[in-house]
Amino acid sequence: MASTKKIWLSSPHMGGAEQSYVQEAFDTNWVAPLGPNVNGFEETLEEYLTEGSKVAAVSSGTAAIHLGLILLGVQRNDIVLCQSFTFSASANPILYQGATPVFVDSEETTWNICPIHLENAIKACISKGKKPKAIIAVHLYGMPYQVDAVQEISQKYDIPVLEDSAEALGSSYKERKCGTFGDISILSFNGNKIITTSGGGALVSRSQRIKERAIFIATQARDDAPHYEHSHIGHNYRMSNICAGIGRGQMEVLDDHVKLRREMNSFYATLFQDIKGVKVFKEPSLDFYSNHWLSAITVHPEQTNGITREDVRHAFAKANIESRPLWKPMHLQPIFKDALFYGKNVSEKLFETGLCLPSGSNLTNQDREHIKGVVQSLF
Ligand SMILES: *Cc1c(COP(=O)(O)O)cnc(C)c1O
Repeated sequence: MASTKKIWLSSPHMGGAEQSYVQEAFDTNWVAPLGPNVNGFEETLEEYLTEGSKVAAVSSGTAAIHLGLILLGVQRNDIVLCQSFTFSASANPILYQGATPVFVDSEETTWNICPIHLENAIKACISKGKKPKAIIAVHLYGMPYQVDAVQEISQKYDIPVLEDSAEALGSSYKERKCGTFGDISILSFNGNKIITTSGGGALVSRSQRIKERAIFIATQARDDAPHYEHSHIGHNYRMSNICAGIGRGQMEVLDDHVKLRREMNSFYATLFQDIKGVKVFKEPSLDFYSNHWLSAITVHPEQTNGITREDVRHAFAKANIESRPLWKPMHLQPIFKDALFYGKNVSEKLFETGLCLPSGSNLTNQDREHIKGVVQSLF
């Protein structure tokens, strides 16, 4: 077979205006973790998210989660409930604070935190005398979690939600944007996300006070004094003005990226519609609107004449096409082997049968033909 260029799962996709914002930063010597691009990027995000959102741009989504836990008052030995089926960056900041993660399984329709197991976990923690300090819920692959049900539990037990919207900029639930549902929400602009700043993130809230507090901690917690005075632990988490320039350019093409990622999902829906035993992950109802950051399938060998997820992955790899198993749940990770878990085997099954497929907004018709050829010759 003729050699072809590698088809990636999700690679950076520049819109065109990014370099002019970066050039402006150089021309005006704002080469620092503050400046007009940082403020401009935050304003654009605030306008995009609406709902009175206040945005603090930081160095990564992980940093935003860490700041979020600090602002929610999470301390040593506190319990934080966390969706098990996610990327480790959702959970690691719990450990940065010396707190204890308790993991919760997913439900089958959104693949995100199961409200029933979540409530069971809360009741169990309370009965052991330790009310959880926060709930981390994730919109995985851009699919909104069951927002109403999670909100209801959060209110019933008075436990705040940290909404991990790292993968879900451009998604919405009941026509309200993801990134506006948590007591604190976070976004990521890593290189593989729907828009990128080369590396970056944001902490989102509905409170100017929280925004200011986040920026204070993210810039070394310098008290108001002529010398350097510190009464809190600080971090160096602010976004650079260069990265924010890339972000401003990327915001101009965010809507296009959402449209193109959703078209990739439709492409897979059509490609697999007549293949028995392969399911393309879709929104459960019109309440959910996914940016389809990554399109994913589950492969059920009892219906595919024995073809497994691994067979599909290997066939793609041979054709120079990247694909990747779904997230390995946190409660199965060596680093979290001692953590408690509430649920059954939903996330475990997804990990066994699921595969993420190339989903970038920059894939071409030729790329899609290549992917189609591999699928058709395998099935
Ligand atoms: C990417 C990601 C993060 C972390 O964001 P970074 O900007 O890479 O630090 C957190 N949670 C989820 C679900 C992610 O996909």
